[in-house]
Amino acid sequence: MIVIAHPDDAEGNCGGTTARWAREGKIIHYLVLTNGDKGSDDLSMTSEKLARIREQEQEAAAKILGVSGITFLRIPDGELEISPGLRRGITRLFRFHQPAIILTHDPWKPYQLHPDHRAAGFLTLDAIIAARDHLYYPDQLARGLNPCRVKEILLFGTDSPDFWVDISNTFELKLEAVHCHRSQGLTAAEVQERIRNRALEVGKAKGYLYAEAFKKIVL
Ligand SMILES: [Zn+2]
Repeated sequence: MIVIAHPDDAEGNCGGTTARWAREGKIIHYLVLTNGDKGSDDLSMTSEKLARIREQEQEAAAKILGVSGITFLRIPDGELEISPGLRRGITRLFRFHQPAIILTHDPWKPYQLHPDHRAAGFLTLDAIIAARDHLYYPDQLARGLNPCRVKEILLFGTDSPDFWVDISNTFELKLEAVHCHRSQGLTAAEVQERIRNRALEVGKAKGYLYAEAFKKIVL
């Protein structure tokens, strides 16, 4: 399961890994926390229209990568808070989907400016612990859900990578998926350059052509 603050956070950070794992037969589910309704430089854009566009872009990008399903929580962009109610809701989704591996934002990245990225990381980690222990939210278990024991967490956007995925064979799919997020104002050439240079640089450290890097936590 991949938990992200905004539509478009997944593809640039872990799109190559997603496409690779989907090809290998893994079931991948996105949980998109906010509706991305502030992410535009276009002064004629409205939040309602932008939220609709970004959801469609997210669906198109996920399809290219082979993602099986998406849950949109549609919280207003910039207003994601580390709250008991959201932790409960995310815990319920983990118990429902029973993911073995969860990918999300590294909330400890120094100088991480976007509040939603910090909140998404912390909420996800808090919910992973709550989903595991049966005494959290016993009403969820009474309604038929089971505790969920996540085996690995991969944090992206990290300054402390210790796990690399070779995405040489799925890099073109990643590019195509990132390019679905056209509302974000980057031209195809800018997407190409930015994403390619980053993947080349990350790959170089491990002897891969293209790679994505994560901080891995084994539970
Ligand atoms: Zn974001």
